[in-house]
Amino acid sequence: MRAIYFDLDGTLVHTRPSIEAALADAFQRVAGESPDEWLETYSEGFVEQFRACRPAPYRGGVEHLRAETDFGYGVEETVGALLDAEVAATAPTPDAAATLERLGDDDDNAVGVLTNGVPEWQRAKLAAAGLTEHVDAVVTAYEAGAHKPDPAPFDLAERRLPADAYALVGDADADVDGAADAGWARARYDGGQLADAVDDLDWP
Ligand SMILES: [Mg+2]
Repeated sequence: MRAIYFDLDGTLVHTRPSIEAALADAFQRVAGESPDEWLETYSEGFVEQFRACRPAPYRGGVEHLRAETDFGYGVEETVGALLDAEVAATAPTPDAAATLERLGDDDDNAVGVLTNGVPEWQRAKLAAAGLTEHVDAVVTAYEAGAHKPDPAPFDLAERRLPADAYALVGDADADVDGAADAGWARARYDGGQLADAVDDLDWP
C-alpha cells in the first residue's frame, strides 16, 4: 500500500485571483470598504497566530485589527465574511479531480491531503473545490501542533493512513524538505499539470 498526500493551497486548489483580493472582498462585505491599513494589520495579526498554531488565527487577526485601528465591526461577523470570501475564491487545479480519482482507483493507493491550514477552513475549501470525495484523509498541521516541514504533521499523516510507503506532492520548500526529512518520496508541483508532478515522484 502506498499513501500519496497532496498539499492543499497552491497544489490542489488556488485562490482566484489572489488571497489579497479575497481578503479585500471580505472587508467589502462587512464594511463596504477595504483600506490597505486594515488588510495589512489583519494579516500581521493572523500570520503571527497562524505560525504559532494558535487555535483561532482568523479571530486573532480580527481582534488585532480592532485593537490597532478604527475597525469597529464584529469579530464573528468578520471571521464569517473572511471564510465565505476565501471559500468563494477557491478553485481546483484543473486536473486535480481526475488525478486524485485515477490514483484512488488503484486499490494499492490511499490518497490524502496534508496541509498547513486550519482544519475547518481547509475542509471547506476542499469541499468548495469538489475534491472531498476523492480523498481518504485530510490531515492539517494544526492538528499536529506544528507546520510542515516539522516532522509532527508527517508523523500524524502516517498514523492516519497506514501504508508501506509515503509521498507528498506540494508547491513549497516546506513540502519537499519536510517529506525528504520524513523519508517520503516527494515532488514539487510547479503550476502545470498535477499529473506531471505525480509522475515525478521519486519513489525508491
Ligand atoms: Mg502550498
